[in-house]
Amino acid sequence: MFSRWLSRLCRGLSTPTRRTTQLIWSSASRRLVLSSQRRIPELSSFVARTNTCGELRSSHLGQEVTLCGWIQFRRQNIFLVLRDFHGLVQVVIPQDESAASVKKILCEAPMESVVQVSGTVISRPPGQENPKMPTGEIEIKVKTAKLLNSCKKLPFEIKDFMKKTEALRLQYRYLDLRSVQMQYNLRLRSQMVMKMREYLCNLHGFVDVETPTLFKRTPGGAKEFVIPSREPGKFYSLPQSPQQFKQLLMVGGLDRYFQVARCYRDEGSRPDRQPEFTQIDIEMSFVDQTGIQSLIEGLLQYSWPSDKDPVVVPFPSMPFAEALASYGTDKPDTRFGMKIVDISDMFRNTEVGFLQDALSKPQGTVKAICIHKGAKYLKRKDIESIRKFAADHFNEEVLPIFLKTNENWNSPVAKFIMEEQGLGLVRLLETQEEDVVLLTAGEHKRACSLMGKLRLECADLLEARGVVLRDPALFSFLWVVDFPLFLPKEENPQELESAHHPFTAPHPSDIHLLYTEPLKVRSQHYDLVLNGNEIGGGSIRIHNSELQHYVLATVLKEDVKLLSHLLQALDYGAPPHGGIALGLDRLMCLVTGAPSIRDVIAFPKSFRGHDLMSNAPDSIPPEELKPYHIQVSWPTDAETEKSSSNHPCHSES
Ligand code: ASP
Repeated sequence: MFSRWLSRLCRGLSTPTRRTTQLIWSSASRRLVLSSQRRIPELSSFVARTNTCGELRSSHLGQEVTLCGWIQFRRQNIFLVLRDFHGLVQVVIPQDESAASVKKILCEAPMESVVQVSGTVISRPPGQENPKMPTGEIEIKVKTAKLLNSCKKLPFEIKDFMKKTEALRLQYRYLDLRSVQMQYNLRLRSQMVMKMREYLCNLHGFVDVETPTLFKRTPGGAKEFVIPSREPGKFYSLPQSPQQFKQLLMVGGLDRYFQVARCYRDEGSRPDRQPEFTQIDIEMSFVDQTGIQSLIEGLLQYSWPSDKDPVVVPFPSMPFAEALASYGTDKPDTRFGMKIVDISDMFRNTEVGFLQDALSKPQGTVKAICIHKGAKYLKRKDIESIRKFAADHFNEEVLPIFLKTNENWNSPVAKFIMEEQGLGLVRLLETQEEDVVLLTAGEHKRACSLMGKLRLECADLLEARGVVLRDPALFSFLWVVDFPLFLPKEENPQELESAHHPFTAPHPSDIHLLYTEPLKVRSQHYDLVLNGNEIGGGSIRIHNSELQHYVLATVLKEDVKLLSHLLQALDYGAPPHGGIALGLDRLMCLVTGAPSIRDVIAFPKSFRGHDLMSNAPDSIPPEELKPYHIQVSWPTDAETEKSSSNHPCHSES
């Protein structure tokens, strides 16, 4: 594992000529680097080494080099393998009496100590070359060595770190970062961001503007972190995104803004979220939806790592209603079929109780998915867990029907399925032998949502049994468009909330409906989905102050005073504008194939929002709270117990 990742990391480092090296990942990326005429990065300028450990080849034979690195491995006090970010190199420990002090340093230094060695690049004796190591043809004959710093006994071996618990990795993050995986992830992230900057600023005239982190409360949207100030009762909020600032930059004539922006949302523990995260934040004046979409397609194409399959543009689009009806979600994974089909009409005179019940209600529907070869791969306990999930999370029944090899339907209620219904299922769902059909019933959105979850669950189950449904090398981008502008609030469906955010413009042909049937208004909001994950979202904005006021005050019932500065700015010649934000962490997670977004962030928070290395958040002595005019109201034991049992997961990561 280690050597595979390492060689992947180092493959692109070509033989240096005139002491220059290239940090590139593959031969394809070499073409990319050279074709864009960029300068080749110099990896050993200004520092106490002449070369990196990973760059030495036969072409360096005879050269005197100085290397700095960590001791990865020592064999019989004869060989030592030295590691830096760039790779591994074998060092021969001198055995002659005259070099006893060098031998002592190199043999006594504990593993992971950091040393500097100087010596000559020599060939390995015939037969001792290591073809698995990029530097495997050579070794270093050491003349001098310096122990730069010794390493105490480690809590885990660097090469084994993936096997350790994530909590331990986060506690010793600085050691975890030495691993090839973390090095690869963070370096690839840096390269992609650099290419994005290049594309936006150099090729398309965007301006990189930093916006404040100490801000004020924004109505609607995510919960914000609160920062006390020295003025009694006054608080800053950390921005959930630079949304207001980027719109104000358009009013200020900046015209094309971007920022690698840090955003903060106090949304509690969620496995794939972080309380602070990074967005590639973009805003443009005089643009429409197609303009933003083309910009993003070009941006991803330009910055995409060249060791992956190239990004094909334009990305397909799907209306929100279709995403919900066919995939049960606004972020469909379109790498595989198993789409949801509405079979309500076919079951109007069913004898199956729960279907009958659902269809007797005005909003009732019956939905189905067909799991190809499900009868062959799904076990009884899988079906049981699917039914339990539906009951626990949706309070709904799911009826599994197996199509046996003899084409007979088999299910607890198969006898109630009439022949024409069976034939209808075969026709609509294109079922074949050994397929399983799952049926559920209920209101459209709810039934689709349940089926969407079961679709993904079944895909996981089939893949666990060896069926390949989703090609891991495939990147399937999709625009989801034509969202409604407002949705009924989940906790109180009489009230409305924005589907995206309150600054999103209505579809021009639906503006009149705002005043009569706001739920029918389509918006100019678009989301970018990659392999079933939302990686970006944006909209064309309202640039008319009156309209913005109406949406905030009348439709959303928000406190407009909080946004008076924005409303005022829109009145002073605000240009039409729109934008988008890409979630950089999630994007990098998908690009690198990392199991969690924490693996593409240098110092992430744990699942429960803690920094396990420094132990933040931490308490503050009461006297330090005084200047902020706040004091802690400590929870009772009962409250503490309640809040910890509300955590869906008690572990830290
Ligand atoms: N600010 C929005 C968000 O963070 C993105 C946008 O509309 O540009 O989701």
